[in-house]
Amino acid sequence: MAALNHLNCEAEKVAKIKGGCLCGEVQYESTAEPLMVAACHCTNCRKQSGTAFSMNIGVPADSVSVTGGSLTTYEDAGASGEPVLRKFCNKCGSPILTNLKAADGVSFIKAGTLDDSSWVVPGAEIWCDSKASWGSLGEALPKMPGNPPFG
Ligand SMILES: [Zn+2]
Ligand SMILES: [Zn+2]
Repeated sequence: MAALNHLNCEAEKVAKIKGGCLCGEVQYESTAEPLMVAACHCTNCRKQSGTAFSMNIGVPADSVSVTGGSLTTYEDAGASGEPVLRKFCNKCGSPILTNLKAADGVSFIKAGTLDDSSWVVPGAEIWCDSKASWGSLGEALPKMPGNPPFG
């Protein structure tokens, strides 16, 4: 048990958010603690990620710095009709960051782009109303039909 606790402490220390795109042109970093980690099952996250859902890590927008290459923004629209800015590497297409009007001041990092994602623990599943039948994460997580209450 003591050994396990020790491992958990080590895991927290390396929980710094750092990652980049597939081709390596774009790198990002955030020194903040994640505000939330949620699997989004919305149709648009499926389209952008090319798979069943997107694992998003919410952090304060001003804590994120992007270096290297530049991100291209695709202006999508959320369920409310408000803009959802989906930012991806303009060379390799990796989706990196999303900003939404509905969650002003928060940037959502795509967990799959982290250099070390071993510390990621999903806290909820959102947009379960449009979940793919093959996109289950099990029964344990809280499930929301659409957006979580932001702010
Ligand atoms: Zn790239
Ligand atoms: Zn989504």
